[in-house]
Amino acid sequence: MGLTLLSRRDPLASASEQLSMLGATRGCAPFDQRMAQAGLAPLYATGITVFQINVGKFCNQSCRHCHVDAGPEREEKMTRETAQLCIDALSKTDIPTVDITGGAPELNPNFRWLVEQARVLGRHVMDRCNLTVLQLGPQADLAEFLARNQVEVVASLPYFRPAQTDAQRGEGIFEKSIRGLQQLNQLGYGKPGSDLVLNLVHNPVGAFLPAKQEAIESQFRRELLKHYGVVFNNLYTITNMPISRFLAFLIDSGNYEGYMERLANAFNPAAARGVMCRNTLSVGWEGTLYDCDFNQMLELPLSYGVPRHIRDFDAQLLHHRRIVTANHCYGCTAGAGSSCGGAVA
Ligand code: SF4
Repeated sequence: MGLTLLSRRDPLASASEQLSMLGATRGCAPFDQRMAQAGLAPLYATGITVFQINVGKFCNQSCRHCHVDAGPEREEKMTRETAQLCIDALSKTDIPTVDITGGAPELNPNFRWLVEQARVLGRHVMDRCNLTVLQLGPQADLAEFLARNQVEVVASLPYFRPAQTDAQRGEGIFEKSIRGLQQLNQLGYGKPGSDLVLNLVHNPVGAFLPAKQEAIESQFRRELLKHYGVVFNNLYTITNMPISRFLAFLIDSGNYEGYMERLANAFNPAAARGVMCRNTLSVGWEGTLYDCDFNQMLELPLSYGVPRHIRDFDAQLLHHRRIVTANHCYGCTAGAGSSCGGAVA
């Protein structure tokens, strides 16, 4: 039996089950009510500067916290036809950044094509990389490919110590991740004066909010350099969203109501004004349009009368669309907010 909720036949594999759980939360006021109190409801997009493409749920890892419920047994993958629709839509805009995520996005057969096409259009490309994918035999040339195309690597590394990282991501993952980081550094990624950008993403291992970004970044910088000779550009902290496998963990460990209360008590109007859905459009593996990767996993597509599929893309209609929100959004508005645009492989 695999680790995904789907393979375990866990009821929480269903998005509607998750939404009904989130809707019945006693630990916090409804999110929309809290936003209204802060004068922020309804929430509208301010434009699109990030075109996020989720190419599917297939991954070589099965991390405990995964908000995608990704894993090796997942078969959802974006086809070339849908990838072509994404590039067609992008070509009609001047959206500067393409953010490719999954699953392990690099394992989609169309990943390299998408990167090359976006680069031909002159767009900055980000790859949400789990690092261990760089160690897979058929991906031996992946790091060179990313460097050649000047792809920004946004790499998940929950912690700078093996025990905490392996507890969340699986046995031996920390060591392989460090090898991946060293490989990227050898190509110039994260090095001073290099234009190859390597950013790390840290998320808490348990049911608590992340530490202050500056403090944890300097710890990561010091420890990774000292023990492994690894350098990087920036470290982003993200709050674990109460959806999918992390939601299952919260419920199983009796932490669900307490965690929602913690998120709601940490509601920060400044973070709420800056949530990433306001400048992101997220495309699912089948081409459905969402406000963010989290809404995608909860099967909450764009609403309020705007196009819902990439084939009907219309920048004018989408730029200032109304955003679909629910109680999971408390994960984006707690404390300093999640600073990396949310989705991480
Ligand atoms: S979960 Fe998505 S829709 Fe909700 S606030 Fe965060 S980014 Fe916006």
